Amino acid sequence: MRAVWNLGTHFTNTYLIELAEGWLLVDTGYPFDYRHFLRAAKRKGIELSSIRYVALTHVHADHAGYLKRILSYTGASLICLPAARGRLASGVNEKNVYVSRRILLPINRLSAATPRFQTFEPVDAAGAIDPLTQPLAGEGITFFALGGHTDQDLCLRVDDRLFVGDLCMNGAGATGYSPLWIEDNDALVESWRRLVRMEGETLYVGHGKPFPKGKLAARIEKQAKRKLCKLCR
Ligand SMILES: [Zn+2]
Repeated sequence: MRAVWNLGTHFTNTYLIELAEGWLLVDTGYPFDYRHFLRAAKRKGIELSSIRYVALTHVHADHAGYLKRILSYTGASLICLPAARGRLASGVNEKNVYVSRRILLPINRLSAATPRFQTFEPVDAAGAIDPLTQPLAGEGITFFALGGHTDQDLCLRVDDRLFVGDLCMNGAGATGYSPLWIEDNDALVESWRRLVRMEGETLYVGHGKPFPKGKLAARIEKQAKRKLCKLCR
């Protein structure tokens, strides 16, 4: 099985996936995580120039944080869904969202009011590759679009592993694998149903450790009934 490294921080995962030649990077942490990433890559002996593609699961500052810097430094091609382009150009998180647990509302409102956690260098994604054209089919990598955490969430299947961004979470205060921020819970639940039905056994999430798909299946009905709170009044 090909190598997969997590070069992220204790908060956000940043996966490097081995290609026949070079690497595919999935997500890019907060803006202030860049130095951590550089150190982690050096420890693994990975030349930044060998990163050929960067796939973005969704546009949040903890996933697109140093995207602009890594693209200009490596010359890698960006792979992102068309819906991500406008948000990438804005450089700021969408805040018309629901929070998954009432107890977490105060800390999420504080975070939402803190530019350090909500902004990133804007990226011009006009030349990005549309993942649904399956640009890495020759590498055995399949892209698909789901949604609910944001308006469109990009996922990848690599061997029996599903990289799902923040469609579900296994850490950072999440319960029952729910993401903390949800734009559309009906869409999220539908995404979970589709993930459970598709090929691939292990979910590689944006926050927390990978976990077997069966655990998500057991939480779908509870997620559908979850009471959500609006982030901004
Ligand atoms: Zn997110």
